[in-house]
Parts: sequence; structure tokens; C-alpha cells
Amino acid sequence: MEREVRVRFAPSPTGPLHIGGVRTALYNYLFARQHGGKMILRIEDTDSQRFVPGAEDYINESLAWLGIKIDEGVREGGPYGPYKQSERRDIYRDHVKMLLDAGKAYIAFDTPAELDACRAATPNFQYDASTRMQMRNSLTMPADEVKSLIDAGNQYVVRFRIEPGRDVAVHDLIRGTVTIKSDILDDKVLYKSADDLPTYHLANIVDDHLMRVSHVIRGEEWLPSAPLHVLLYEAFGWADTAPEFVHLPLLLKPDGKGKLSKRDGDRLGFPVFPLEWHDPKSGDISSGYRESGYLPQAVVNFLALLGWNPGDDTEVMSMDELIRKFSLDHCSKSGAKFAFEKGKWFNHTYLQAMPDADLAEMFKTVLIAHGVEPADFSDQYITRAVGMVKGRINFVSDLWDNARFFFTAPTEYEPKAVKKRWSAEMPSIMTALADMLASEPDFTGTELEPKVLAWIEQNGYHLGNVMNAFRLTVVGECKGPHMFDITDLIGRDETIARLRAGVERIRPVE
Ligand code: GLU
Repeated sequence: MEREVRVRFAPSPTGPLHIGGVRTALYNYLFARQHGGKMILRIEDTDSQRFVPGAEDYINESLAWLGIKIDEGVREGGPYGPYKQSERRDIYRDHVKMLLDAGKAYIAFDTPAELDACRAATPNFQYDASTRMQMRNSLTMPADEVKSLIDAGNQYVVRFRIEPGRDVAVHDLIRGTVTIKSDILDDKVLYKSADDLPTYHLANIVDDHLMRVSHVIRGEEWLPSAPLHVLLYEAFGWADTAPEFVHLPLLLKPDGKGKLSKRDGDRLGFPVFPLEWHDPKSGDISSGYRESGYLPQAVVNFLALLGWNPGDDTEVMSMDELIRKFSLDHCSKSGAKFAFEKGKWFNHTYLQAMPDADLAEMFKTVLIAHGVEPADFSDQYITRAVGMVKGRINFVSDLWDNARFFFTAPTEYEPKAVKKRWSAEMPSIMTALADMLASEPDFTGTELEPKVLAWIEQNGYHLGNVMNAFRLTVVGECKGPHMFDITDLIGRDETIARLRAGVERIRPVE
């Protein structure tokens, strides 16, 4: 029988979830959903030194925002809980004991100072088969001495006893089989009595086993730990049910030179975190995709393509399409350049696909932030304004620069446009245009356009100059949608008022 697909995302709550971690969560989710399997969220908080308050909530909120749904986890519960490692101490203690009893691990008393002395005395010192018999541990001490040291409250660690001379094969579904010699591994610490907690390696393996994880899909930075994990599965006698490994390619700096870091984001102006993060210690604020105006669908789509492709050049894919198309065969081994401009393009594309009315709704908060009361305008008005300019935006906030003139008359006029378009005769021409409009019945765009064009021609004016000056009075600059679509929306009275205000205010630039 096919094994049930069960994957886990296992972040450590040591700070805000990095965008690379988000991609890992996403690929796990896509894989689980595609196979009708389960997605587990396990909080790996065994490193008490690095615990950061708020980080776990941040993880939950980020995944929820992106639409990555968790089947089993701290909040969701599930048959293999608890899903937070700090609540599983008894389980780890039992498993450490299993390895000790089987002679696959041993107790070591060497203090940090003693270990430092070894490192100082021997370059590249490694605690392993070649050195362990010279150290202070349960392999070199009589059992009663070990017991009395523990009873007297001495701190100790439990180390994994790695035998040299073995070829350790790691099978990775993206990378194939990688074999290393066990000699290069050290006797890793699995448990520390000081905080009565296991290290990452032990807890990770035990939990993957007990939670019936079928595939470990994680970042490439964990590949060096994989041989040790293979040996641990073996030591526990679980090799037959060990999960498949998948190590995802690194996210690289936009220029491809090295690993993506927070500093790249600061330097080039893009977020590396899904949500804004307020550091509880330093008070520093790091920008997030959500607060920077990205739609979660755009972020998901963008991240999905950083390390995977659908096999053709389809780019825009919803979560459901990604679930259908995702495959490990099309994941790359080599790092993926973090092309953040592409992220903007995805956001642009998703915004274009949204109904104008939804965009208008989102734009209301931007209006308020700029001191405009949305209730002063009908929903239909805001929707039409948004529809006219949305082609130019990457973010909802960009709507302000592109559509502000629909909501407030210009008070300043772009100097370059004034210099170019506001010639000495313009004030009188614009006054004449305003008078002409005032003598017309209320108009709509389609009626007004031929009338104004005919009026310009009859008077022998230059079409481009007059229309640009007209636009300058209405918009404040010589950009924007079709002029008569603008006048149609703002209406006759407002158009005339802006023409007259322009005549009053615009001073020709010499
Ligand atoms: N706790 C590790 C992390 O923070 C998990 C690595 C793994 O998935 O095995 O990424």
C-alpha cells in the first residue's frame, strides 16, 4: 500500500519567519494537498537560548495570510501531539534512554572550558571515535563514577556514538543519492542535562518518526545534517520507515552572488519577511510583504516559481493550479535568484485581475490616509476612477499618485509641464474654454469631446497645446487617463472650477 503523505513544516521560533522559510512551507503544502496528505506545523523550540517571544504567533499569522492551511499543529491539534517540542520532554528523555541502553549513545561530562582547551591544543579537534576515549565520558569512566557525578548534580550531555568507516547514503528526491564517510561526522550532542532538552537533531528525528512523516521537505541548509539523521534512524531501528528527503535550493541574492539576506532587502528595498516584524528586544521594524501592499496570492505565485517550474512557461497560477501542477521533478538543484522585481510584476498582474470594485474597496484606506473621506464619493465614482488608472499600478498605494486628482483638485502644478505648456496666451484660452463649457448643458464624455475639439479648431488653436494646458489645470500635471473620461467623471462644474483655478494660480515659468 502507498504510504500516506504526511509532511511537516518545522520552524524554530527564533525570530520572524524568513521568506525562504515561507517557500519551504508552501512547497510542503502544495505537495501535501496534491497527494491528499496532511500538513503538520511543528514548533521546534528546543533551543531556549534563541527563543523569541511573538515568533510563533508570527508564523501562524504569516501562514494564514498566505492561505497555507495546517492540518495538525499547536492550534489545530491532531493525533500525534503535542506539536510543540518544549512540551515533549518526556518523549525525548525516553528516546535518549533507548539509545543509551543500546550503547548507541553515551554520557559526556567535558565542560565547555575543557572542550575549548582541546580545540586550542589540537587544530580541527573533533569529538569522535579518534578522541572520545581520551575524554571524560561514560565510555572512559566506571559506571558508578558516572552515576555519582550525575547524582551530585554535574551537568552532562548525551552524545551520539558514530562509528567510523561507514558510507552513509542520503537519498534526496531532487538531488539523488549523496554518500559521505561517517568519519567526517562528530559525535553530535543529542541532549543537554542543563535545560533537560534534546538538541535539534534528536528532537527532529524522533518527531518525524512519531508523527509518521513521509517526506522531509526543507531548505538546502539542512542537507549537511541529513547523514547524521540517516544514522539516527538506523540507530533507533527505524530505517525502514524513514522519510524521504527533499532539500530545496537556496534563495540567492538578486544578482545570484550568495545567499539572500535581510541586508539585501534593506539595500535594494524589498521585504524578506511575509509580515512586518517588530523586534521585541531592539524595537527595530522590518518590512513585510503584507504591509508593503502585496496580495497574498501574488506572493504565493512568486515564491512557487523560485525553485520550481511547471514545465512550460505558465507564470500566473492560483493556489489550486499550483497544487495540481507542483512536482518535485521540476524542482531545481541550483539556487534560485530572488528576482524581487518579478514579485512586483506578479502583484501588478493580480491587481489587474481583481474586479475594480474590490480594488476601490482596498483603495479607501489609502484615501483616508491622505485625508480624503471616501464617503464623500459614491462607490461607483471610486470604482470608475480606479478602473481608469489601475493599469499603471503595482500596489494599491500607487493608486493615490495615479488617481488623486479624482478626489482633490490640484493645488500645485508640475513645474516642467507648466514651463512647456503654459504659454502667455493660455490664461485667456482656458478662460474662454471654461466659458464655453459653462454655456453647455451638463455633459458626458462622449458629448463633450467633439464639441471641445471643434471649438479648438474653429479658433485656430493648436490642439496639443490647448489639450495639455487643459489637462494641467484639471490634473496638475500632463499625465493620466483620457482627458474626456476624466471630465466625464468629475463633472462639468468641477471641470470648470479647475480651469478657472488654474488660470488664477498657474504662473508661467520663464
Ligand atoms: N527547526 C528547523 C528549522 O528551523 C527545521 C529543519 C527541518 O525541517 O528539519 O528550519
